[in-house]
Amino acid sequence: MFIDSHAHLTSSSVYEHVEDLLTRAQQVGVQAIVNICTNPLSLERGLELSQRYPWIYQAAATTPHDVEKEGEEVFEILASAARQGQLKAVGETGLDYYYEHSNRQIQKDFLRRYLQLALECQLPVVIHCREAFADFFEIIDADYCVQGRHAPGVLHCFTGTLAEAEEVLKRGWMLSLSGIVTFKKSQELQQVAREIPLEQLLIETDTPYLAPQSHRGKPNEPAFLIETAAFIAHLKQISVEELAQATAQNAKRLFCL
Ligand SMILES: [Zn+2]
Repeated sequence: MFIDSHAHLTSSSVYEHVEDLLTRAQQVGVQAIVNICTNPLSLERGLELSQRYPWIYQAAATTPHDVEKEGEEVFEILASAARQGQLKAVGETGLDYYYEHSNRQIQKDFLRRYLQLALECQLPVVIHCREAFADFFEIIDADYCVQGRHAPGVLHCFTGTLAEAEEVLKRGWMLSLSGIVTFKKSQELQQVAREIPLEQLLIETDTPYLAPQSHRGKPNEPAFLIETAAFIAHLKQISVEELAQATAQNAKRLFCL
């Protein structure tokens, strides 16, 4: 059984056929999905999905791309869902200096606010970080610790270097790998996959983005998680079952599923 630790089921392209897509996911053994809501509409749809499919769980935050445009107006709406116990995590929040769709200072301010929210609600955080690791580590080291230890989180769709992976792991966090690891050019990421301890690894599709190699260029969906899982299992020279079991246990532990 597999857990997809990060999917956007309520993004408009996917949501239209969400029933079919969830049927296909169940058929291949996906037993739970963490759905990432990025605005009030996707949260409303996500919560409604959880009513119909109790094995779908919600996380929410404005992405670093959109914080400048709409971070302020939706923060309290998403925060109140966290405070009411409707979420299993706060995120995805973080920093993206590659696209830099939002001003860097605004991204940092919202990351800090979402980290505070996570601490207040005792929820883990789901982080998106691209070409911004120095600032990211500075912020979590200063603002996201409880009694001298880092509070829990996952670096989702990790595409950083081996050194950055080690820094994340040192803080007791999970690293989540997506279909990107299956691409031929992803050699350093494949090395990261070999070295991540099994207890700190999650797998995800990031549906509808980043379909694995054999579906590349098409919309992604949770059923394609199996291809990524099989690929990583091969890299780690373990069975797919062992990989599935370990990553599912990790997701249950991190998100309290
Ligand atoms: Zn995402």
